[in-house]
Amino acid sequence: MGVTISKQIGLKCRCGAESVLSAWDTVNVTDNPELKSALIEGRLWTHRCPSCGVEAPVPFPLLYQDMSLPGGPPGASLMVMLSFDEDFDPTELDAGMSDEQFLSRMGAQTTRLVRSHNALIEKIHIAESGLDDRSLEVLKAVVRKQVPSMQEPELLFNGREDDGAIRMVALTPEGPRGVTVPLEEYERIHGMLVGLYGALAFVRWAEVGRQFGEQVLGKLG
Ligand SMILES: [Zn+2]
Repeated sequence: MGVTISKQIGLKCRCGAESVLSAWDTVNVTDNPELKSALIEGRLWTHRCPSCGVEAPVPFPLLYQDMSLPGGPPGASLMVMLSFDEDFDPTELDAGMSDEQFLSRMGAQTTRLVRSHNALIEKIHIAESGLDDRSLEVLKAVVRKQVPSMQEPELLFNGREDDGAIRMVALTPEGPRGVTVPLEEYERIHGMLVGLYGALAFVRWAEVGRQFGEQVLGKLG
Protein backbone atom coordinates (compact mmCIF):
# COMPACT_ATOMS: atom_id res chain seq x y z
CA MET A 1 0.00 0.00 0.00
CA GLY A 2 1.03 3.59 -0.30
CA VAL A 3 0.15 4.57 -3.83
CA THR A 4 -2.76 6.65 -4.93
CA ILE A 5 -4.57 4.83 -7.69
CA SER A 6 -7.27 6.07 -10.01
CA LYS A 7 -9.17 4.80 -12.97
CA GLN A 8 -10.93 6.74 -15.69
CA ILE A 9 -14.72 6.71 -15.91
CA GLY A 10 -16.36 7.84 -19.16
CA LEU A 11 -19.40 10.09 -18.58
CA LYS A 12 -22.04 11.47 -20.89
CA CYS A 13 -23.69 14.74 -19.88
CA ARG A 14 -27.33 15.66 -20.50
CA CYS A 15 -26.03 18.17 -23.05
CA GLY A 16 -24.55 15.25 -25.00
CA ALA A 17 -20.89 16.02 -24.31
CA GLU A 18 -18.69 13.10 -23.32
CA SER A 19 -15.87 13.48 -20.83
CA VAL A 20 -13.72 11.50 -18.45
CA LEU A 21 -13.54 11.56 -14.65
CA SER A 22 -10.65 10.25 -12.54
CA ALA A 23 -12.24 7.91 -9.99
CA TRP A 24 -9.83 7.22 -7.18
CA ASP A 25 -9.58 3.62 -5.94
CA THR A 26 -7.19 4.60 -3.20
CA VAL A 27 -6.50 8.03 -1.79
CA ASN A 28 -3.31 8.08 0.22
CA VAL A 29 -3.13 11.54 1.77
CA THR A 30 0.36 10.88 3.14
CA ASP A 31 1.64 10.64 -0.46
CA ASN A 32 -0.93 12.98 -2.01
CA PRO A 33 -1.93 15.58 0.62
CA GLU A 34 -3.47 17.78 -2.09
CA LEU A 35 -6.31 15.29 -2.51
CA LYS A 36 -7.45 15.65 1.07
CA SER A 37 -9.25 18.99 0.76
CA ALA A 38 -10.88 17.83 -2.49
CA LEU A 39 -12.20 14.83 -0.61
CA ILE A 40 -13.31 16.75 2.51
CA GLU A 41 -15.10 19.36 0.40
CA GLY A 42 -16.76 16.74 -1.80
CA ARG A 43 -15.02 17.96 -4.98
CA LEU A 44 -13.52 14.51 -5.51
CA TRP A 45 -17.01 13.19 -6.28
CA THR A 46 -18.22 16.18 -8.28
CA HIS A 47 -17.82 16.18 -12.03
CA ARG A 48 -18.12 19.39 -14.05
CA CYS A 49 -19.07 19.01 -17.69
CA PRO A 50 -16.33 20.74 -19.73
CA SER A 51 -18.89 21.67 -22.37
CA CYS A 52 -21.89 23.13 -20.50
CA GLY A 53 -20.47 23.51 -16.98
CA VAL A 54 -23.19 21.51 -15.22
CA GLU A 55 -21.92 19.79 -12.08
CA ALA A 56 -23.06 16.31 -11.11
CA PRO A 57 -22.14 14.02 -8.23
CA VAL A 58 -20.44 10.78 -9.26
CA PRO A 59 -20.25 8.54 -6.20
CA PHE A 60 -17.59 5.86 -6.33
CA PRO A 61 -16.03 3.70 -3.63
CA LEU A 62 -12.54 4.36 -2.39
CA LEU A 63 -10.01 3.44 0.25
CA TYR A 64 -8.77 6.40 2.29
CA GLN A 65 -5.31 6.04 3.82
CA ASP A 66 -3.48 8.36 6.18
CA MET A 67 -0.26 6.73 7.29
CA SER A 68 0.79 9.52 9.68
CA LEU A 69 -2.37 10.70 11.32
CA PRO A 70 -2.29 14.30 12.60
CA GLY A 71 -3.39 14.42 16.23
CA GLY A 72 -2.67 10.73 16.72
CA PRO A 73 0.26 9.09 18.51
CA PRO A 74 3.49 8.67 16.47
CA GLY A 75 3.00 6.07 13.76
CA ALA A 76 -0.79 6.16 14.06
CA SER A 77 -2.62 5.47 10.83
CA LEU A 78 -6.20 5.60 9.66
CA MET A 79 -7.68 3.56 6.83
CA VAL A 80 -11.33 3.93 5.90
CA MET A 81 -13.01 1.97 3.14
CA LEU A 82 -16.01 3.71 1.59
CA SER A 83 -18.25 1.18 -0.13
CA PHE A 84 -21.77 1.38 -1.52
CA ASP A 85 -21.91 -2.37 -2.14
CA GLU A 86 -23.76 -4.26 0.62
CA ASP A 87 -21.92 -7.47 -0.28
CA PHE A 88 -18.46 -5.92 -0.17
CA ASP A 89 -16.13 -7.91 2.09
CA PRO A 90 -13.50 -5.48 3.40
CA THR A 91 -11.31 -8.26 4.78
CA GLU A 92 -10.30 -8.75 1.13
CA LEU A 93 -8.24 -5.62 1.67
CA ASP A 94 -6.04 -7.60 4.06
CA ALA A 95 -5.53 -10.37 1.52
CA GLY A 96 -2.79 -12.67 2.68
CA MET A 97 -2.39 -11.02 6.06
CA SER A 98 -2.56 -13.40 9.02
CA ASP A 99 -4.44 -12.59 12.21
CA GLU A 100 -1.08 -12.23 13.96
CA GLN A 101 0.13 -9.67 11.43
CA PHE A 102 -3.12 -7.77 11.69
CA LEU A 103 -3.12 -7.85 15.50
CA SER A 104 0.47 -6.62 15.65
CA ARG A 105 -0.70 -3.41 13.97
CA MET A 106 -3.89 -2.95 15.96
CA GLY A 107 -2.39 -0.57 18.49
CA ALA A 108 -1.64 2.18 16.01
CA GLN A 109 -3.82 1.29 13.04
CA THR A 110 -7.52 2.07 12.79
CA THR A 111 -9.48 0.38 9.99
CA ARG A 112 -13.12 1.19 9.32
CA LEU A 113 -15.82 0.49 6.77
CA VAL A 114 -18.28 3.30 5.97
CA ARG A 115 -21.25 3.64 3.64
CA SER A 116 -21.45 7.34 2.84
CA HIS A 117 -19.26 10.32 2.04
CA ASN A 118 -20.48 12.04 5.20
CA ALA A 119 -19.42 9.06 7.29
CA LEU A 120 -15.97 8.96 5.66
CA ILE A 121 -15.38 12.67 6.22
CA GLU A 122 -16.62 12.34 9.80
CA LYS A 123 -14.19 9.48 10.53
CA ILE A 124 -11.31 11.67 9.33
CA HIS A 125 -12.42 14.61 11.52
CA ILE A 126 -12.90 12.41 14.59
CA ALA A 127 -9.49 10.74 14.28
CA GLU A 128 -7.71 14.05 13.67
CA SER A 129 -9.45 15.54 16.73
CA GLY A 130 -7.82 12.87 18.87
CA LEU A 131 -11.15 11.22 19.70
CA ASP A 132 -12.18 7.57 19.60
CA ASP A 133 -14.98 7.06 17.08
CA ARG A 134 -16.39 4.13 19.07
CA SER A 135 -16.85 6.23 22.21
CA LEU A 136 -18.25 9.03 20.07
CA GLU A 137 -20.91 6.74 18.58
CA VAL A 138 -21.93 5.73 22.11
CA LEU A 139 -22.06 9.41 23.07
CA LYS A 140 -24.36 10.03 20.09
CA ALA A 141 -26.61 7.21 21.30
CA VAL A 142 -26.78 8.93 24.70
CA VAL A 143 -27.71 12.24 23.05
CA ARG A 144 -30.43 10.51 21.00
CA LYS A 145 -31.83 8.97 24.14
CA GLN A 146 -31.87 12.25 26.06
CA VAL A 147 -32.97 14.67 23.32
CA PRO A 148 -36.17 13.52 21.59
CA SER A 149 -35.66 15.78 18.52
CA MET A 150 -32.25 14.12 17.91
CA GLN A 151 -33.64 10.59 17.73
CA GLU A 152 -34.31 10.35 14.02
CA PRO A 153 -31.87 12.58 12.14
CA GLU A 154 -28.33 11.65 11.21
CA LEU A 155 -25.98 13.01 13.86
CA LEU A 156 -22.47 13.97 12.79
CA PHE A 157 -19.37 15.10 14.68
CA ASN A 158 -18.75 18.74 13.87
CA GLY A 159 -15.53 19.71 15.65
CA ARG A 160 -14.66 20.91 19.12
CA GLU A 161 -15.01 24.11 21.11
CA ASP A 162 -11.96 25.83 22.56
CA ASP A 163 -12.64 24.14 25.91
CA GLY A 164 -12.71 20.72 24.21
CA ALA A 165 -16.51 20.38 24.21
CA ILE A 166 -17.81 18.22 21.38
CA ARG A 167 -19.98 19.77 18.71
CA MET A 168 -22.44 17.67 16.74
CA VAL A 169 -24.85 18.56 14.00
CA ALA A 170 -28.18 16.84 13.44
CA LEU A 171 -29.32 16.76 9.82
CA THR A 172 -33.04 17.37 10.37
CA PRO A 173 -35.62 17.84 7.58
CA GLU A 174 -35.83 21.50 8.69
CA GLY A 175 -32.08 21.97 8.26
CA PRO A 176 -28.97 21.36 10.37
CA ARG A 177 -29.29 21.72 14.16
CA GLY A 178 -26.28 21.92 16.43
CA VAL A 179 -25.76 20.33 19.83
CA THR A 180 -22.72 20.69 22.09
CA VAL A 181 -21.73 18.06 24.66
CA PRO A 182 -19.21 18.78 27.44
CA LEU A 183 -15.91 16.93 27.07
CA GLU A 184 -16.44 15.36 30.52
CA GLU A 185 -19.41 13.40 29.18
CA TYR A 186 -17.27 11.94 26.37
CA GLU A 187 -14.46 11.17 28.80
CA ARG A 188 -16.83 9.46 31.23
CA ILE A 189 -18.10 7.16 28.45
CA HIS A 190 -14.64 6.59 27.00
CA GLY A 191 -13.29 5.74 30.45
CA MET A 192 -15.99 3.11 30.94
CA LEU A 193 -15.46 1.54 27.53
CA VAL A 194 -11.78 1.76 26.75
CA GLY A 195 -11.06 -1.45 28.63
CA LEU A 196 -13.72 -3.30 26.64
CA TYR A 197 -12.41 -2.27 23.25
CA GLY A 198 -9.59 -4.80 23.40
CA ALA A 199 -12.10 -7.53 22.53
CA LEU A 200 -14.04 -5.44 20.01
CA ALA A 201 -10.95 -4.10 18.30
CA PHE A 202 -10.20 -7.42 16.69
CA VAL A 203 -13.05 -6.94 14.24
CA ARG A 204 -11.24 -5.99 11.05
CA TRP A 205 -12.70 -3.08 9.13
CA ALA A 206 -15.47 -2.66 11.67
CA GLU A 207 -18.55 -0.60 10.83
CA VAL A 208 -18.70 1.82 13.73
CA GLY A 209 -21.89 3.77 13.29
CA ARG A 210 -25.34 4.25 14.76
CA GLN A 211 -25.98 0.55 15.29
CA PHE A 212 -22.64 0.10 17.07
CA GLY A 213 -23.32 3.01 19.44
CA GLU A 214 -26.82 1.83 20.30
CA GLN A 215 -25.72 -1.77 20.86
CA VAL A 216 -22.89 -0.77 23.20
CA LEU A 217 -25.15 1.65 25.10
CA GLY A 218 -27.75 -1.13 25.40
CA LYS A 219 -25.15 -3.40 26.98
CA LEU A 220 -24.15 -0.69 29.45
CA GLY A 221 -27.80 -0.58 30.52
ZN1 LIG B 1 -22.76 19.14 -20.37
